[in-house]
Amino acid sequence: MNIFPWQTKLWEQLMSAPDKLPHALLLAGPAGLGKQAFAMAMAARLLCEAPLAQGEAGALACGCCSSCNWLATGNHPDFRLVQPEAAEEAGMDEGEQEASAASGAKKAKPKTARVASGPIRIDQIRGLADFVFIGSHRHGRRVVILNPAEAMNPAAANALLKILEEPPASICFILVSDSWRKLLPTIRSRCRIVVFGRPTPALAASWLQAEGVEDVGSLLQLTGGAPLLARDWAQQAVLTNYRKALEPLLLTQDGPVDPVSMAAKWGELLKADSTFDLPQLVDIVQKWVMDLTQVALAGSLRYHLEPAWRDRLEALTKRSNATALLGCDRDLRRIRAVARHPLNTQLFLEDMAARYLRSLSVKNN
Ligand SMILES: [Zn+2]
Repeated sequence: MNIFPWQTKLWEQLMSAPDKLPHALLLAGPAGLGKQAFAMAMAARLLCEAPLAQGEAGALACGCCSSCNWLATGNHPDFRLVQPEAAEEAGMDEGEQEASAASGAKKAKPKTARVASGPIRIDQIRGLADFVFIGSHRHGRRVVILNPAEAMNPAAANALLKILEEPPASICFILVSDSWRKLLPTIRSRCRIVVFGRPTPALAASWLQAEGVEDVGSLLQLTGGAPLLARDWAQQAVLTNYRKALEPLLLTQDGPVDPVSMAAKWGELLKADSTFDLPQLVDIVQKWVMDLTQVALAGSLRYHLEPAWRDRLEALTKRSNATALLGCDRDLRRIRAVARHPLNTQLFLEDMAARYLRSLSVKNN
């Protein structure tokens, strides 16, 4: 299993002396940077019987010993992957796609829906006890990956804490989290926190180009510089949907300018592509409003750097002010919480459009 080019420094820091690793690590940072793939590569290396030599840098797993083969087929007796049960039932999740992509496998399919949204439950953590407290199958290291760690419900988190308080020898817990501040402080304090930063735009762009991704500049801006997210977006034609979803927000003369027709446009878009869902749409509206707020505050744009978008942002900001836009941003964060299961999609869309229009002082119909 391989790592991504922007992870080599972290890999060297951690894996040049694998025997000195603490019992628990927390891989933290924004989504789309390959943390799960990195965790899998660490697990493979720690369990591998014949790691590759790589000069001064920490070596990678060999990929062909019996341990590496067990891991690849999901049958390693000294390895556990704990994730929300919904993700397990649905088969391959985002992280495994990352992992297989990093290892060069081409079988990764674009995910059609985000499935890892359920909790990690206490019985899953209790189920680890036998594994953790009974000796290693092969008298070596054992590895547990928890991803996403913030999905543990409070009971599960407390059960894990008990294990982390008296960690058995030779076990390594690797917690992976996009929102690590949501974890119990007592759990965080038991882990060495490894923060994943975004790669430089040049490195991210060259990797994406090598992956055959087009429109790299826009994708990187809109995903906040996360290369794996950018590649997912490219595979799923998210950028096309993004542009279409943005159209009603531009409030141009030939587009809709009232909540009902804006909602109708969005409704058509959601119907036309089953991989495009309401949370994604709210995310797009949020990003647009964030950039509007940036313009109003004379700050720098984060997402919509294309000249046509930039012009439109400036024109629209003249109809509003930072207070109204910040209020709209707060509203969107609140409704984002119910976007996965709205009571009535049509009303949800109209409400979102109305809030947006109000913040721009446009008269509602
Ligand atoms: Zn191996």
